[in-house]
Amino acid sequence: MMERRSFLQSTAAVALLPWLQPLRDSSFDPWLEIEPRHLAQNVVEVARAAGGRPILAVIKNNGYGLGVVNVARVLAPLPQVAGLAVIKLQEALAIRDAGLTGPVLLMGPFDERDLAEMHARDIMPMVYTPVGEALERVTRSAQRPVRVHVCVDTGLGRVGVPYREATALVRDLASRRGVVIEGTMMTFTEDEAFDQEQLRRFNALAAEWKSLGLTTGRRHAASSYTFFQHDNAGLDMVRPGMALFGVYPEPRFRSLNRMTLAPAAALRARVALVKKLAAGESAGYNRAYVAKADTWVATLPVGHADGWPRVAAKGAKVRIADRLYPVIASVSASHTIVEIGPEAAVKIGDVATLWDWQDASRPEDVATACGVSVYDLLMHLGGHLPRRVR
Ligand SMILES: *Cc1c(COP(=O)(O)O)cnc(C)c1O
Repeated sequence: MMERRSFLQSTAAVALLPWLQPLRDSSFDPWLEIEPRHLAQNVVEVARAAGGRPILAVIKNNGYGLGVVNVARVLAPLPQVAGLAVIKLQEALAIRDAGLTGPVLLMGPFDERDLAEMHARDIMPMVYTPVGEALERVTRSAQRPVRVHVCVDTGLGRVGVPYREATALVRDLASRRGVVIEGTMMTFTEDEAFDQEQLRRFNALAAEWKSLGLTTGRRHAASSYTFFQHDNAGLDMVRPGMALFGVYPEPRFRSLNRMTLAPAAALRARVALVKKLAAGESAGYNRAYVAKADTWVATLPVGHADGWPRVAAKGAKVRIADRLYPVIASVSASHTIVEIGPEAAVKIGDVATLWDWQDASRPEDVATACGVSVYDLLMHLGGHLPRRVR
């Protein structure tokens, strides 16, 4: 066996990084803790708020940081979950590699050359371009139908067939042998008034397709935000992500009492160093913090390279042994410094919680305290962080 240190120094280490994962996590490496019970609870809450409509669970971006397979394993078997949706093909394949067989929708782009493999592995494409012929070719060689969801652009201007051209595409797809339109979908702009115009456009299309005798499956549009903003957008199926992870998409939604959500993960690290700064001494690059009086500070080995935002130093607090301590100085790539106060109240090795599910430490609290969105906290978690399922 090559010594670990010399292995790390060799250039091969970069390419072989996943190979390192079986090694024991250092107790000082920051980690993510996943609470599957909270995921399941949130599903119940979302289903209730959705009036019992089925949930197409969005677990893109590596399962909102928690690990796409970790999350898929918990959500897929739940009766309220009609399927899983991801944006990247590799995430869809990872779900299949894990042995999960339920419906998976790929909401991201795909190459026509990938269609055969997607079909073989039962990954449904979201379509919005003239792919009818390519789909027909795949079903012909596989001898079984291909199921698709058609994405309509009702005003977001991102992806989707423009709503004025949607009927032509739906007609073409519906006429293809072996092509089954299992759903039609759109995404809101989250502009409160314009959302309703988007919904009118989408509903008008559904009525038109019905009158033309086209079978277009379940309609879905509602992300987490929609639950708190509109009562009439549940359609046939809902499509939330963030709410399933127990986080309110905007902190102000917490007080609306629409749902009781429990964050399904925690970001933690251990105190690496505790030291006393004398009045006038500084901490951090550019001497960003200067002690006004003698004070103890603690250094945590977690930084923006792990997904803990740089702006955390603008007001976020970290919990150590049930007390909150302000982040000071500046968050660097791998370090965060917190101010402990006149007593050395924490010690090396203590667990520090950057965010979890406890009040005052929730992602919404941290996001509000330092002026970021909760999506900034969850969508940038380092891929290297150990994910420990509780
Ligand atoms: C991310 C995403 C969702 C879910 O959004 P949340 O805000 O996390 O609920 C739904 N639909 C599409 C197309 C998405 O990309």
